[in-house]
Amino acid sequence: MSNEFSAITGRRRPLLLVLSAPSGAGKTTLIRKWLDADPTLAFSVSCTTRPPRPGEQDGRDYFFLREQEFAERVRQGEFLEHAQVHGRRYGTLRQHVLDFLRSGRDVIMDIDVQGAAEIRRQAALSNADPLIRNGFVDIFIAPPSEEVLRARLDQRGTETPEAAALRLQNAMAEMAQWRRYRYCVVNDDLETAFQDLCAIRKAEKLRAAFGLAARERAE
Ligand code: 5GP
Repeated sequence: MSNEFSAITGRRRPLLLVLSAPSGAGKTTLIRKWLDADPTLAFSVSCTTRPPRPGEQDGRDYFFLREQEFAERVRQGEFLEHAQVHGRRYGTLRQHVLDFLRSGRDVIMDIDVQGAAEIRRQAALSNADPLIRNGFVDIFIAPPSEEVLRARLDQRGTETPEAAALRLQNAMAEMAQWRRYRYCVVNDDLETAFQDLCAIRKAEKLRAAFGLAARERAE
C-alpha cells in the first residue's frame, strides 16, 4: 500500500503538451506567458529552414538550418516529426524532446497540424516510447471568429502580401482540424485562455488511467 501512496503523491508523468493553432490565434503569446509563469516548463525548440525574423535568436526561438543541414537530419532519422509549413521546413528533434521528458519536465511543443497528427499517430502505437505514449496531450488554440483571425493576421505586417495571403489560406485549412485534438481553447481573452491551459495541465497531471492503463480499464 505504501507504494500506492508514493506513486500518488510523487511526481506524476511528464506531459508532452502539443499546441497547434492557425497563425493569428495568439498561440505564441500564450506560450510565452506560460513559460514565463512557470520556469519548470520546457520549450521544444524546433528546427526550421526559414530565415530568422527580427529579434529571433538561434537556439532559443528555433535552430535555423540550411536546407542541406535539414535534409541531412531527416536522413539521419533525428526528427520526431517534420513538415512543410508555409513553403518552409520545420521539424522537432526527437532527442531534444526526450531529454526534457526524461528529466521529468513538462514540454511545450509549438507545431502545426501535420506535425501534431504525426505525433498523435506515433503516440497511439503500442511500441511507442512510453514517455510519448503516456505524456501526449494535444491542444488546439482557436481564434474566436474569422473576423478576429483576419484582423490579427492583418496587424502582423511582418511579411509580404503574398506570404500573408498564404497564411490566411493555411489558417482556414488548419481551423478545420480542431476536432482531432483532445482539447480546444478559444483565445478571445488572453487571461481566460491562459487559465484554460493551466486547467488542462493540472487535470492531465491528476489523471490516473492513461495509455495502457486506460485501455485495460476499458476492457
Ligand atoms: P513560424 O514560422 O510563424 O514561427 O511558424 C509557422 C508554423 O510552423 C506554426 O504553425 C508553427 O506551429 C509551426 N511549427 C513550428 N515548429 C514546428 C515543428 O517543429 N514542426 C511542425 N510540424 N511545425 C512547426
